[in-house]
Amino acid sequence: MAQQTADCLIIGGGISGVSTAYQLALRGHRVILLERRYLAAGGTGRTVGLVRQHYSTETTARMALRSLQVWQDFENAVGGDVGWVPTGALFIVAPHDLDGLKANVELQKRVGINTEFLDPLAVLDLAPYLYVDDIGGAAYEPGSGVADGAMATTAYAERAKALGAAILQGVEVTSICVEGGRVTGVETPQGRFSAPVVINAAGPWGPKLAQQLGYDTPVESSRHQVAVFQRPESLADRHPFIGDFIQGFYLRSETGRLTLSGSLEASEAANRVDPDHYDEAVDMDFNLEMAEYTEHRIPPMGEAELRKGWAGLYDVTPDWHPIIGKMPGLDGFICAFGWSGSGFKMAPVTGEMLADLATGEQRCPIDPHPFRFERFAEGELITGQYSYSIMC
Ligand SMILES: Cc1cc2nc3c(=O)[nH]c(=O)nc-3n(C[C@H](O)[C@H](O)[C@H](O)COP(=O)(O)OP(=O)(O)OC[C@H]3O[C@@H](n4cnc5c(N)ncnc54)[C@H](O)[C@@H]3O)c2cc1C
Repeated sequence: MAQQTADCLIIGGGISGVSTAYQLALRGHRVILLERRYLAAGGTGRTVGLVRQHYSTETTARMALRSLQVWQDFENAVGGDVGWVPTGALFIVAPHDLDGLKANVELQKRVGINTEFLDPLAVLDLAPYLYVDDIGGAAYEPGSGVADGAMATTAYAERAKALGAAILQGVEVTSICVEGGRVTGVETPQGRFSAPVVINAAGPWGPKLAQQLGYDTPVESSRHQVAVFQRPESLADRHPFIGDFIQGFYLRSETGRLTLSGSLEASEAANRVDPDHYDEAVDMDFNLEMAEYTEHRIPPMGEAELRKGWAGLYDVTPDWHPIIGKMPGLDGFICAFGWSGSGFKMAPVTGEMLADLATGEQRCPIDPHPFRFERFAEGELITGQYSYSIMC
């Protein structure tokens, strides 16, 4: 029988949960992570894995930068291979969004991000295959890149285990136990696990668990599709990640001359689904739409061939930012979900912030206060000054 008492229990073996398990174990805390299926069974296993810095609030830009520094040097910073590929990232806007883009680039530079503004000719210098006649300009981040969701989850989990954490798969939390105004543990089909702190990092399934304790979190599960194309021989070289805010979609290169693409439109949130019953394949209509956008931005992609895509889940909040914080009125209950399609890249700093919340320490320089659950009732939604997409 596994040890069933800890200082902290984590619900969910996605990237947020394993990064937190690692941070807590690193700090010498006894931690048990409970995953109902297998590691990376949720959004993490279906991620596109982009690690970018282009954000429009100082807090999220600082979080992205701090996390990037871990992804870039994961072997030394944590240990293990996360499939890191420094592709660079390019964010293209229409002329009417140019001032906003430049202001965001300045904000990002102020916090130390390596990014620069490119006019259309400089964009062509970087990527001569792009159609640039409709663009106002772009932001370019040479140090951004991509990592693999499953590899990263495994790497964090292995390091957490090596530091003493228990990572249990096939254990579903059915309820969270409360006594005298504080959490005391969780119930599972394999018995009760006890701890004074419980972190709900269950992604799209997190709201249901919070609901059991009376917390109505405004988080909806939505289906996000990824179309996959094989580039023609003439585009054999890897291209940077391209966030095209004019057409509202993205392109990310993958090994095997593949290019992945998906939507950047806020209307994605309207594809609401039950996280336990949704279509995990990609629709042909969606493939055709992405093919059209792709060919417009990279004309030689008109020769690309369609390959199999997939669909995964976003856990979307009204302001497209996560809930990270202690839940009011119940000691020891912490929530960390609602990443709205951008939680992979932030995982290194998410783990630090959650470890701080769980232990009462303040080792991470990022204050989680803006992400508190109460912000929705208080009308303090998180918005950047210049937003042109769900990416901001
Ligand atoms: C198609 C797609 C593309 C994306 N692209 C990017 C990107 O390029 N960059 C980026 O930063 N982000 C991206 N994201 C978002 C990112 O992948 C997610 O925000 C992130 O992986 C969420 O991780 P998580 O650990 O919070 O949740 P999840 O990965 O969803 O993990 C939650 C886990 O909790 C488990 N669980 C649920 N209920 C219980 C229970 N009762 N008991 C025990 N375990 C339970 C689930 O099985 C699951 O494994 C993308 C997402 C998708 C779907």
